[in-house]
Amino acid sequence: MPEKTFYIETFGCQMNVHDSEKVRGTLAQRGYRQVETVDEAGLVLYNTCSIRDKAEQKVFSRLANFKRQKAEGRIFGVLGCVAQHKGEDIFEQAPHVSLVCGSASYNELPALLDRVEAGEDRVTGLSLDTEDTFETPLTRRDNPYKAFITIIEGCDKHCAYCVVPFTRGPERSRTSESVLEEARRLAGQGFGEIQLLGQNVNSYRDPSEAGWDFAQLLTAVGRVPGIRRVRFTTSHPRDFTPQIIEAIDENLVLCDQVHLPVQSGSSRLLGRMAREYGREEYLDRIRLMKQARRNIAISTDIIVGFPGETEDDFQQTLSLLDEVEYDSIFSFKYSPRAGTTAEKFEDAIPEVEKSRRLAILQEKQRLIQLRRNAELIGREEEVLVEGRREKSQQWIGRTTQNRVLNFTNPAQDLSDLRGSYCRVRVTGSGPNSLVGELVAKENAPAFTGFRILQ
Ligand code: SF4
Repeated sequence: MPEKTFYIETFGCQMNVHDSEKVRGTLAQRGYRQVETVDEAGLVLYNTCSIRDKAEQKVFSRLANFKRQKAEGRIFGVLGCVAQHKGEDIFEQAPHVSLVCGSASYNELPALLDRVEAGEDRVTGLSLDTEDTFETPLTRRDNPYKAFITIIEGCDKHCAYCVVPFTRGPERSRTSESVLEEARRLAGQGFGEIQLLGQNVNSYRDPSEAGWDFAQLLTAVGRVPGIRRVRFTTSHPRDFTPQIIEAIDENLVLCDQVHLPVQSGSSRLLGRMAREYGREEYLDRIRLMKQARRNIAISTDIIVGFPGETEDDFQQTLSLLDEVEYDSIFSFKYSPRAGTTAEKFEDAIPEVEKSRRLAILQEKQRLIQLRRNAELIGREEEVLVEGRREKSQQWIGRTTQNRVLNFTNPAQDLSDLRGSYCRVRVTGSGPNSLVGELVAKENAPAFTGFRILQ
């Protein structure tokens, strides 16, 4: 029997990255070996994103590169959001594709692969009518120090611009016990940092008798022995409760970081986006965070050039940046997505105007970040060391606030720091990162599961 090999490329968000980790585990269990190039692979998978038009086009341009390769016995599959969104149309656009499977059908992947391996030409897993979550102990994680755990899949909101409710299906929460069991297992394997994932983690509802909400789950994960840091993403402002801040205040394991996507600073536009909150309601959440005992870093997502966005709406978004002083933002030009409400809006903003607004927004935020990062000079921060830049002889660390802190070791000690938690003094800053010097190789072992890398 020839060896079974697969290549997988992932586009899009952390949910997709983690789905690919689970798909890799599922394939490994079926005897597949992962390879680094399409040329070496018998099975080629693209795990796709359709949040923006560009991401979708990228997948089809990848597929177009390999049109002839089907004749060489190679199987091509499209997974994820584009698979769900385009469905069987993919076979028309890229006839060499044999497998199309959305994320809500990943539990069916083994059966779908059986059919493809048996020679079926067009196999699909596209049902959204599911209560399943994709839970598997087979997950092959990329990062040896940080692990994702999906706690909720799908989304029940209907933001006017978003395809996710059509691509990932309705909300389905995992039981708190299965989440905690996974967290304990990861702690036992040496993962110190956990990131809880969901399209809207705040609407988590434990389907078991315990009936926990997100704050309760967060608190419990933060108490798992051996876990040193817990982050979560993404939050919807509407469902963001004071109890989440209380949980962060009470447990140092929960990171000083919240990502709270706002999308616009204008209540009028937020209404048009069907975001279910206005500027003031959003700012109430921000005030709660600023009043917390912990110094919580706040990040957000912003869309510029949403249909009908006036200069006044845009100015309100700029004034929101001043008011909140975000630690970082992800900002995008609006791009219409097929099937969404906003696709039908007729007052589109010209591309050139979207670009102008995006440049103004990003420059304003760059200055805010420059200022905020400079305020940290002289402080000591704990970082998880994630890698090394040989060229500059710097270690790459990440603070609890999710800031990148590149640092040197003045002692010229050659020991490998990757995976350890170190204390670093901040000596300089830029808009996107900090620089510093090592103070102590391992921070005091305040938590169980402390690992010394020597
Ligand atoms: S909350 Fe809105 S933007 Fe987020 S996934 Fe759901 S529909 Fe999309």
